[in-house]
Amino acid sequence: MRIAIVSDIHGNRQAFEAVLDAVAGSDSEELWCLGDLVGYGAEPDACVELARRHAAICLAGNHDLGVCGSLPLEEFSRGANLAAKWTQGVITPETLAYLKQLEPVNTDEPVGLYHASPRDPIWEYVLSPLQAELCLDVQSHRVCLIGHSHVALYFCRAVGSSATGETRGADEELAIDSGEWLINPGSVGQPRDGDPRAAWLELDTDRWTAVYRRTEYDIAAAAAAIRAARLPDSLAERLAFGQ
Ligand code: ZN
Repeated sequence: MRIAIVSDIHGNRQAFEAVLDAVAGSDSEELWCLGDLVGYGAEPDACVELARRHAAICLAGNHDLGVCGSLPLEEFSRGANLAAKWTQGVITPETLAYLKQLEPVNTDEPVGLYHASPRDPIWEYVLSPLQAELCLDVQSHRVCLIGHSHVALYFCRAVGSSATGETRGADEELAIDSGEWLINPGSVGQPRDGDPRAAWLELDTDRWTAVYRRTEYDIAAAAAAIRAARLPDSLAERLAFGQ
């Protein structure tokens, strides 16, 4: 099957709509989302509605769980905490009900799906080969998809070797037919790898390939919506830098 993988939408409707258009123009058969529909951005209801309509699978991220009251907001950074409280104040009961039934893990598919990591699905940022080793040791699937760090990257371990990995740019392809893998598509709504374009991934579980994609969107409009909502200005500014 060919699946478009998205993660970390963060209330950025402009970015999510642009990615959904790009996905519609690809040959993806389904859309799977690795969580964090809300938090940081100004349009949580719109993003949840788009996920409800388009995503065959959707995980919960730490921001979704925080907004639902399932995680204490004291554990969030200042900006994330403020954004979560703002989100709690504006979302509809339907949005809250949708977020509340999401889980941070799905192990029912040919690939493992985790918001953050196989050993800590809610909080771990997998950014080093050592962390990747520890995750690869516990995961039950050969290939797992993770989000949370907002960095498009992969880690791979061939039989008898240790894990290696790198960040990946637009249109780079991975051949994932052998070895153990952790793959992060990057973030739709708040990329942090220096490329401000919305990130997503095309996964093919028949050919076992993964292709990184970047999609341009109206960053100025997303930033203006954040400012109009009186969310912290830094959340608007960072979008243009992809940081
Ligand atoms: Zn996130």
